Amino acid sequence: MAYLAANIISLVYRFCDEKHLPYDRDVDLSELTYMKTGGRAQALLKPLFSAQVAELLSFLSENGIPYKPIGNTSNLLFLDEVDYPVLICSAGMTQITVDADVGRIVAQGGAMMPDLARAALLSSLTGFEGLEGIPGTIGGGIFMNAGAYGAELKDKLIGAELALPNGSVQYFTIADLQLSHRSSVLRREASGGFVCSATFQAPRGNAQKIFAKMEVYHAKRHKYQDFMYPNLGSIFSGSPYRALGRRDRIFKLISAGYYFLNYEFKLFRRESPINRKWLNDIVLRRFPLHYSLQPFSDKTLNCLVNRGQGTAEMVRFIRQMEDLVSGQIPLENEIVEEF
Ligand SMILES: Cc1cc2nc3c(=O)[nH]c(=O)nc-3n(C[C@H](O)[C@H](O)[C@H](O)COP(=O)(O)OP(=O)(O)OC[C@H]3O[C@@H](n4cnc5c(N)ncnc54)[C@H](O)[C@@H]3O)c2cc1C
Repeated sequence: MAYLAANIISLVYRFCDEKHLPYDRDVDLSELTYMKTGGRAQALLKPLFSAQVAELLSFLSENGIPYKPIGNTSNLLFLDEVDYPVLICSAGMTQITVDADVGRIVAQGGAMMPDLARAALLSSLTGFEGLEGIPGTIGGGIFMNAGAYGAELKDKLIGAELALPNGSVQYFTIADLQLSHRSSVLRREASGGFVCSATFQAPRGNAQKIFAKMEVYHAKRHKYQDFMYPNLGSIFSGSPYRALGRRDRIFKLISAGYYFLNYEFKLFRRESPINRKWLNDIVLRRFPLHYSLQPFSDKTLNCLVNRGQGTAEMVRFIRQMEDLVSGQIPLENEIVEEF
């Protein structure tokens, strides 16, 4: 339990009422979150503009009230047994404005990356094609420099407007944000800043070529990504199969053989293997992983799925995998501990 005392949380509700800031009380996170997990949140706040976010952050920090920004929760594992105090959601800030003549796009922190990719396509601006299938917001994407198919958010980003706990709204340049592979200054320093909007600069491209790329990526994603069970994309930034191979020579040989056979498939049909159940079963035989409900996708060991096993089992799997890959690949999913 991390619930705030009634008199403290009522301060938050009163602040929101006075500032006309939309919010929900006592939210069931298993209904709200992308992974369909989590206990309850005392307050889910949905600010509408950057000055309002800044005022909110200043109010919360002055009163020592803990909070966490959230976007679409597509990288967040909220724990079933934990009740959370204040979540600040960007769902009220989803506008995207395009100036096609100068190749400039301004997107609010809660705009979805697929919508950014589609807005760029409609104006024949290129460089966002790989983001089309990432189910996250601009804010969540900047936090971890999301990317796929050779495109990362940082490629076309020139800066972002952040609301800070001191009550100010500041413009961070791309250099200030220090984006690197699946990371940023926000992720590394946990300063409590909230991405309100981001500005991108992109060159003109050929709309048909942009469309064709997006279509290929979309189809590919469907082949290798689990879409049956709630999940959070990749658990690790990197291949756990390769990391396990470094630990166990026999598994390395078997998986090399598996990939060799599938390479022909990939090379000539330009498709990725769509189901690694056979290889996953070998992993289960060679490594000490035992479950009543399989916690990962048949398509890949690197995707945690919700089959109703509960988050204690999910965390147990993540921790075991972390031990097995012994720091060779960083954890990409974020476990939201009590705060
Ligand atoms: C099916 C699937 C496929 C995926 N594929 C990819 C992929 O190809 N590439 C990739 O990079 N990722 C992928 N992901 C992971 C995920 O979509 C990304 O990490 C995305 O950037 C998360 O965005 P979000 O809005 O859901 O953020 P959330 O999960 O809500 O939050 C993630 C982090 O960002 C912080 N945050 C969120 N909004 C803000 C804000 N406005 N200001 C400050 N901090 C904020 C949160 O506090 C949290 O720490 C995938 C996930 C799924 C479920």
